[in-house]
Amino acid sequence: MLRFTAEQIVFQEVPGEVSLAFTIAGCPLGCKGCHSSYTWRADIGCLLTPEYLSHRLQSYQGLISCVLFLGGEWQPQHLLVLLTLARAAGLHTCLYTGLDDVSPDLKQQLTYLKTGRWLQELGGLNSPTTNQIFTDLRTGQCLNHLFIQK
Ligand code: SF4
Repeated sequence: MLRFTAEQIVFQEVPGEVSLAFTIAGCPLGCKGCHSSYTWRADIGCLLTPEYLSHRLQSYQGLISCVLFLGGEWQPQHLLVLLTLARAAGLHTCLYTGLDDVSPDLKQQLTYLKTGRWLQELGGLNSPTTNQIFTDLRTGQCLNHLFIQK
């Protein structure tokens, strides 16, 4: 079962969406310079059960347009259940992963996908040199340009 260390409403992580974001505990990638290394332990935070997510989606009904998971792909079956729940509630879904790709099963339940680990020298999505890619999976379009400040 996945656990989360933070739950917040965010506006910038998924362009054009109001997202309920869960920071998932237990990322195994260990990127050097990770801003949230305190979340690497998998046994911290609260359980993110389907029941809990359903309850939160009811509370935020009409107020959010997307559910964002910051990690969680290391437990694909559990993440899939949560994504399916969010989609069934009529919401868009997004996953931020440090991997370069995830399974077709996960992608089928995702509207957006951010791939690529954190490499300090290249920067994040707001850097023109980043290795990370933010994709709208409905069209296959890379949306990185929406993160660059003009
Ligand atoms: S993928 Fe993200 S959370 Fe995981 S170690 Fe890298 S920067 Fe940290």
